[in-house]
Amino acid sequence: METQMLIGAAFEAGTGQEEKIFNPRTGEVILNLPEASDSQINRAVEAAEKAFGKWSRTTPAERSAYLMKIADRIEAEADDFAALEALNCGKPINAVKGDEIPAIVDCYRYYAGAVRNIPGVAAGEYLEGFTSMVRRDPIGIVGSIAPWNYPLMMAAWKLAPAIAGGNTVVFKPSEQTPLTAMKLAKIFADVLPEGVVNFVLGRGQTVGNAIINHPKINMISITGDIATGKKVLEAAAKSVKRTHLELGGKAPVIIYDDADLEAVVENLKIFGYYNAGQDCTAACRIYAGAKIYDRFVADLTSAVSTIKFGLENDAENEIGSLISERQRDRVASFVERASEQKHMEITTGGAVPNKPGFFYQPTVIAGATQKDEIVRREVFGPVVSVTRFTDSDDAVNWANDSDYGLASSIWTKDISRAMSVAPRLQYGCTWVNTHFMLANEMPHGGMKQSGYGKDMSMYSLDDYTAVRHVMFAHS
Ligand code: NAD
Repeated sequence: METQMLIGAAFEAGTGQEEKIFNPRTGEVILNLPEASDSQINRAVEAAEKAFGKWSRTTPAERSAYLMKIADRIEAEADDFAALEALNCGKPINAVKGDEIPAIVDCYRYYAGAVRNIPGVAAGEYLEGFTSMVRRDPIGIVGSIAPWNYPLMMAAWKLAPAIAGGNTVVFKPSEQTPLTAMKLAKIFADVLPEGVVNFVLGRGQTVGNAIINHPKINMISITGDIATGKKVLEAAAKSVKRTHLELGGKAPVIIYDDADLEAVVENLKIFGYYNAGQDCTAACRIYAGAKIYDRFVADLTSAVSTIKFGLENDAENEIGSLISERQRDRVASFVERASEQKHMEITTGGAVPNKPGFFYQPTVIAGATQKDEIVRREVFGPVVSVTRFTDSDDAVNWANDSDYGLASSIWTKDISRAMSVAPRLQYGCTWVNTHFMLANEMPHGGMKQSGYGKDMSMYSLDDYTAVRHVMFAHS
């Protein structure tokens, strides 16, 4: 198992405080990893600065070839990556292998193609005797900070467009899930020129804080909590850094009376609980039409009660554990507070199972109303609330009545209703008769306090490059 940080061409252990890295499935400590010291962070930034001159002048074809090599290496080592990610995150290994790794490999391949197709805009003589062109050029050094829910995928979403755009990077994985990043560092060191991507380990308030405040870093890209995003903005204000923020979500799901209920239940059983609900697009806030409400709650309850987790044979598990004891207790406390309110009913789940590790039972809470905490706050666990509606305008207004604005879905057989409701939802994504599906060609990112950075697609390459005007005098 690789455990060392990558600074320039050197692999080295952190010299700061040690952090315990857990196996969330058992609650046991896998190993202790020391975090980067201030001088190690400074050296990582210096390595990125030194590499920038040459890297930023490589051709798109050259960067494309590097990205293809990275993709091939991850694909070739997919089983090892999947085992490590499953170990560190408590995910079922088949979900990592079947769902995550192919999308991660495809992300690097997508940017290998995309970088050779950055569209140019018209150049011309906008003043007599002068020719102008608009260029997209690298921004500089990107400080990149990832969360714990999809460590390797978040690394792909951040690193592939950043290096495709000609930037160099100092990357910090979550302090809870650094293991696949350390393995990735080995591949990057083998494939890329020295210093293009540097990997440092550590906590948010120490190493993360040093990165976001570093005067030589030109852009901060972070996926995490809204509160963390606000800290990034405060730090960025001091030196006017660019920011790319992907913050939380509380996805509303509007199910109309005419929806195909069987398909809805089958899908929400997956999309409300995938990754144990630790997903910023999880289908967690359901508004169900009054005519189908009772049947929907009954059917969802019986479907969710069959979700398999915590079984010895991991191949049978549909979801994994939560990431930590703290996260598990946080989820449990949301459900406990909801259960104290008479108008709500826990129709399945609602408890910590009698198993080792940080598991929580897949839970459905019926009878929730718009003002309830369970409807308003991000739980980030296997917990879905259901609220009844009679008027479509209420459902749309309630869906929009949130600080979050990342993802949403509408379920109906009436295509004109879907067409008229979809544009009214203030969310970065609205799915119709599906949820959760992502494609590397399509942008993923939020509105409102969910942030404004776009991951995946050409829009992300836009975010990681600067628009510049270059003008030539004819004489
Ligand atoms: P978090 O904000 O606690 O941590 C995210 C990262 O930021 C970690 O690497 C952490 O070390 C770092 N960090 C924390 N405090 C920092 C500080 N003061 N300065 C610099 N860095 C700091 O979030 P988390 O608990 O790891 O992840 C869960 C959150 O991420 C949820 O809110 C979830 O919705 C969000 N998320 C959003 C998306 C998206 O695409 N919008 C995707 C995944 C997760």
